[in-house]
Amino acid sequence: MSRRFEILDLSYDFGGMEQHLFPVVLFGQEEVVLVDCGYPGSLELLEAQLRIHNIQPEALTRLVLTHQDDDHMGAAAELKEAYPSIKISASHAEAPYISGACKNLRLQQGEALQDKLPEEQKAFGQQFCDRYRHLRLVLVDAPLFPGEQFDWGGGCEILETAGHTPGHISIRAADNAYMITGDAAVIEGEKLAIANPEYCLDPAAAEQSLNQLLQYNSCQYICYHGGVLKNSLE
Ligand SMILES: [Zn+2]
Repeated sequence: MSRRFEILDLSYDFGGMEQHLFPVVLFGQEEVVLVDCGYPGSLELLEAQLRIHNIQPEALTRLVLTHQDDDHMGAAAELKEAYPSIKISASHAEAPYISGACKNLRLQQGEALQDKLPEEQKAFGQQFCDRYRHLRLVLVDAPLFPGEQFDWGGGCEILETAGHTPGHISIRAADNAYMITGDAAVIEGEKLAIANPEYCLDPAAAEQSLNQLLQYNSCQYICYHGGVLKNSLE
């Protein structure tokens, strides 16, 4: 079988704290699809990672955003600017927040919390909100629907995995060779867990989504935060 997917590794240094994000590239018959694209300002980092994996950035045909958080969609506008032919996809439910038709939910959450924060955390809260106020928006020109199937990555299906945000999606290989979880699951101590429960907009839905992902018993779970968890039951 031809190449199905590659996992990129975007590395950031936040004042000595290293953070890694793991976007995925899926190869289809006619499409080369990047899933999530890092924080604002990540274009050069992305281009370098693509080339390391022998993918020309010009070859990308589509960017799929699992949801509206800035570590996932931050570089979408700059990527679209540099490569205008790239289609931008996200779930139908998430698209209005990514394009700016609706106010970003993380910003709404941050603003609602700001007054309740203890004094020593107010500066952080303010910074967080400002980050989202300056987030560059991008038009979603190819919305996705749960259950939709594509030939990307050897055949895959779009899964609705609400909770972290209402329109969050994950991508499942039709043969369960892999699952791209987005932030519906992170790796914690060799297990899948709910990402940052304090940011989770609907904890009950997030729990349900995590269970859904686990039920597929995929050979490997590719988590945007944490990388790859191989299924030990194999
Ligand atoms: Zn994230």
